[in-house]
Amino acid sequence: MSTPTTQPSTDPSSDAVPDAATGTTSDTTSPGTAVPATSAAAAEVQARTSDLRVRALDPLPAPRDVLAEMPLGTRRGDLVATSRREVRDVLTGEDDRLLAIVGPCSVHDPAAALEYAGRLSTVARELADDLVVVMRVYFEKPRTTVGWKGLINDPHLDGSHDVHHGLRLARQVLLGVLDAGVPAACEFLEPTSPQYIADAVTWGAIGARNAESQVHRQLASGLSMPVGFKNATDGDVQIAVDGCITAASEHTFFGMDAEGRAAAVETAGNPDCHVILRGGRGGPNYHAPDVAAALGVARTSGLGGAVETGVIVDASHGNSGKDHVRQAEVVREIAARLAGGEQGITGLMLESFLEAGAQKPGPLDTLTYGKSVTDKCMDWNTTEELLSVLAKSVRERRAA
Ligand code: PEP
Ligand code: MN
Repeated sequence: MSTPTTQPSTDPSSDAVPDAATGTTSDTTSPGTAVPATSAAAAEVQARTSDLRVRALDPLPAPRDVLAEMPLGTRRGDLVATSRREVRDVLTGEDDRLLAIVGPCSVHDPAAALEYAGRLSTVARELADDLVVVMRVYFEKPRTTVGWKGLINDPHLDGSHDVHHGLRLARQVLLGVLDAGVPAACEFLEPTSPQYIADAVTWGAIGARNAESQVHRQLASGLSMPVGFKNATDGDVQIAVDGCITAASEHTFFGMDAEGRAAAVETAGNPDCHVILRGGRGGPNYHAPDVAAALGVARTSGLGGAVETGVIVDASHGNSGKDHVRQAEVVREIAARLAGGEQGITGLMLESFLEAGAQKPGPLDTLTYGKSVTDKCMDWNTTEELLSVLAKSVRERRAA
């Protein structure tokens, strides 16, 4: 628990003057806010007013120490820098390939995630003329109410919330995915977690539940990679566009430095944000009129760049009712439209893992290997086939 440190001011320039009769210091500008002079009294006040619902504060390692333990290194760093550039070029239309963000809804088992990365690496290389493939390596899950919040928050999936282990494990998985030659995509949820992992991330997402949050928009303004904002869970696309506008601007906000100290973070703004259509409570929004309408809204932003060039369509979530069989149909429908020459879709997001479907989260030894513990995923064979279908549609779009 935090130690109370409130002490009477000794600053001669301060307005606060000691009150000899009461032993308190009163602020002459607001006499009602007397501060107890002794640390015992201060502790007593703190005990009655502060951290009443906080059970523990467990200091985390400094980001610099975790990065020094598991450095990115030159080879992986080159992959991150090159792939970020490729993704940006696709999003701004300078590269006519399609961005394919594909992988499990969440990573819960490092071994399964790395096996997936190995398989994806082979396919990504084969289809590299038509697709820029980035793997979903999602460690932080925003929940509608409560539930497992991802590998960083609860790496043992048993409610023990070993965040120290989760942070290191997440970084280790990211480095392993890069070693397989595959760039990584993450959703960012905790405002300070990027300090531990973002150097290894090629593309970032702000989820549907956070796209309207100032905290997440500010965070995106300082991230080093292109960041997609999801439309809201009610289907509102303006929120995602507003997220891009906000994130493109410079900000000052509360954060943490590499030493783990609280810091006022000053950012330059992120010019590579863009909209992700993920459907919503009113139904899907991946059809051609939805894409055109979303782009119409995006083009009112005045930002130019990725946000006005196109959108990413998330074939899962509200666009498939979280049904992995339906998701495959959505991908095929979109591929057919791309093949017909439709413009405005710069990327696709697929939720896919080794096995089809989903299971309830729990300790690893109770789970089926390679199956999602959050949203339902398409299996590997379906994914491999759909990536080929998408690559073919890009070739046909080029010829159209
Ligand atoms: C996700 O990508 O797994 C996710 C939770 O998406 P959304 O924010 O669109 O619900
Ligand atoms: Mn999901």
